Amino acid sequence: MRLLSIVLWMAVAIVLLLPLVRRLLSRAPRPPRSLPDELVKDPVCQTYIVKSRAVRRTNAGQVRYFCSEECARLDAGG
Ligand SMILES: [Zn+2]
Repeated sequence: MRLLSIVLWMAVAIVLLLPLVRRLLSRAPRPPRSLPDELVKDPVCQTYIVKSRAVRRTNAGQVRYFCSEECARLDAGG
């Protein structure tokens, strides 16, 4: 019975402390993103796109980025 009450009190303490801990964690500065959004140029239509969203194609060891699948296909075709 004693153990049960201890467990119960611990549960109550955790529930009460959790919002406090969350507040402290959210206040802490966030680490910078390892991969910042970088702009790359589509060689087909000369449009700048965000690297993370660009269509990526590797051609002869060279990575090229395109705004869409269509541009990637056009580049490969000619
Ligand atoms: Zn394009």
